[in-house]
Amino acid sequence: MRALIVIDYTVDFVVGRLPCGEPAVRIEERVARLTEEFAEAGEEVVLAVDVHEENDPYHPETRLFPPHNIRGTDGRDLYGKLGEVYNALRDRIHWMDKTRYSAFCGTDLEQRLRARDIREIHLIGVCTDICVLHTAVDAYNKGFQLRVHADAVASFNAEGHLWALGHFQNTLGATVLRNGLEVRV
Ligand code: ZN
Repeated sequence: MRALIVIDYTVDFVVGRLPCGEPAVRIEERVARLTEEFAEAGEEVVLAVDVHEENDPYHPETRLFPPHNIRGTDGRDLYGKLGEVYNALRDRIHWMDKTRYSAFCGTDLEQRLRARDIREIHLIGVCTDICVLHTAVDAYNKGFQLRVHADAVASFNAEGHLWALGHFQNTLGATVLRNGLEVRV
């Protein structure tokens, strides 16, 4: 079994309070289709979704970024067609809140994957060079095989996006895919 981790594809991160903007909007269809494919095939699908409390004095991001993905706000809604896929296949898709960049930090993601004997994880979502990157680094250190879909990750920082794709491939040993086929970055 494989797992698809869909990272932070929410309103706030795509067009809202901390937006990636156009590059994130452009991957809407691909993010939705990959999520649908994995869920319909009975593979593990985890939505890793940032959550914050407003003005949390203890959270390091409070000093680094404008408020985003605040608990109870519609900024945490899934963006676009991914929301439709989640509504249609809710019993096959696992929603998991996270409070740091990495989907592994402070969550039960690793236990969940190990319990299901999952060794290969696929990453999609935003931002390529922040939350996707930190999740990829943790996955590498924990010994998971990594696949990153270059046509379903995005960043507000074009240079950072490209750098991260190269890092996945050359340093983390990830397979980078476009249209499901391996590409050299
Ligand atoms: Zn955050």
